[in-house]
Amino acid sequence: MANVKTFVKHPKIDAHNHLNLGMRYSRYASWAGFLIPNFPRKMSGLAEMHEVIGQYTRTRTVTAKDVEDLLCMSIEDAIEDGITILEGSVDIGFVKHCNEDIDQFLALVEKVKKKYEGKIDFRPELGLGKLFDKKSLNKWVIPLLESKVFKSIDLYGPEVEEGIEDFKPFFECAGKLGIKRKAHVGEFSDATSVRTFINFFDLEEVQHGIGAANDDKVIQFMLDRKIRLNITPESNVMLSAVPSLQDHPIKKFYDAGLKVTICTDDLLFFNRTVSEQCSDLVKAGVFTEKEIFDILDEGLK
Ligand SMILES: [Zn+2]
Repeated sequence: MANVKTFVKHPKIDAHNHLNLGMRYSRYASWAGFLIPNFPRKMSGLAEMHEVIGQYTRTRTVTAKDVEDLLCMSIEDAIEDGITILEGSVDIGFVKHCNEDIDQFLALVEKVKKKYEGKIDFRPELGLGKLFDKKSLNKWVIPLLESKVFKSIDLYGPEVEEGIEDFKPFFECAGKLGIKRKAHVGEFSDATSVRTFINFFDLEEVQHGIGAANDDKVIQFMLDRKIRLNITPESNVMLSAVPSLQDHPIKKFYDAGLKVTICTDDLLFFNRTVSEQCSDLVKAGVFTEKEIFDILDEGLK
């Protein structure tokens, strides 16, 4: 049976990786200078995760150098896992740590990209939090998209439809500029919400989308639209969105012919690399080794 090393050696993508939380805990703890009690641990949902973020990780990030360090640590762990394409999400909130200066922020992202050239194809993704202040979003998002530094855009936060109209102009702008459109939906929300988000933002890819598993009509709708789901199995288990890997709907999506990728989400919290999850999924009997290699190869297309 293929062990983790076999998957590390195989070229692959991580298309759902929040770079502020994308590094191993051991690497993070020695940088941060503190330990997080009883961590990493299984959690009861996003609220518990955000408690830890609020108490520990968010407060530790102060300067532009801190931001740069976080991006670098996450990219280095991706390289160690043999990730060849990293669609890494850079949160727009980081502009605040760059003196609220988008040119300084862009220069930082470009510098990090350049640092790892030849080692990994790092494709910066602009991450938009739904609860981020509207005034800053309206000032920064369009020029950031126009900079061409970002290859994709992603929306996250509470999976509710309330307030999504504020983000529509950003997604329309991304579409015009040829920037890939993604959003988080269907992690805890249902199939209808997944379809609504895809339609509303004209999404090309969905971060999670597992809530669509029980609705064959929405699965067919996603097939017709050629939607790719960037799925994070271990994150879903650790946040109790699914009871276990064995019960994960990723296999159902794959069997239906949908494009899926296997991603980390937040390595700091969930502690399984893409390669480790590939091995876990084979061991759990969800996929054969051949199917995993097929998923990895398709993810690069
Ligand atoms: Zn995510």
